[in-house]
Amino acid sequence: MSILKIKINPDSGLRRKSQDLDKQDLRHDGFQELIGDMAETMIAKDGIGLAAPQVGENIRLIVVNTKDGVLPMINPVISSKSLAKEWDEEGCLSVPNTFGQVKRHKKIRCKFISAEGEAKRIEAKGLLARVIQHEIDHLDGILFIDKAKDIHEAHEL
Ligand SMILES: [Zn+2]
Repeated sequence: MSILKIKINPDSGLRRKSQDLDKQDLRHDGFQELIGDMAETMIAKDGIGLAAPQVGENIRLIVVNTKDGVLPMINPVISSKSLAKEWDEEGCLSVPNTFGQVKRHKKIRCKFISAEGEAKRIEAKGLLARVIQHEIDHLDGILFIDKAKDIHEAHEL
């Protein structure tokens, strides 16, 4: 496995709408390797989520860090969401040293395909719900700075 290079804003690939994957794509050797590399890259960079366009692949694949480990999600779609939203601080590996407050749905249900090609559902709240919403935005070419308020740079200690 290897650490992938992260695309940094501004980069046209970060602004493109990514393509859905089909079952055949999953069987491709390079695809399972990409999932492993994305997981390794996310952990090495202290991220809690990573979307394929951030590593130069405009396909609908994200990895998120959950309490049970790294969860790869293929073709993720939010199927329902709470009316309640909340503000919280976000950052992004593609927008270094920048943070801002973003309003997200508190709770979501999401459909996706697992790395093994199975149809799955997840219910997420709080931070995990936030991360999934942030990563799905990447698949649509949206960055958190498009929605954030109080955007500020990190303060070095
Ligand atoms: Zn991001």
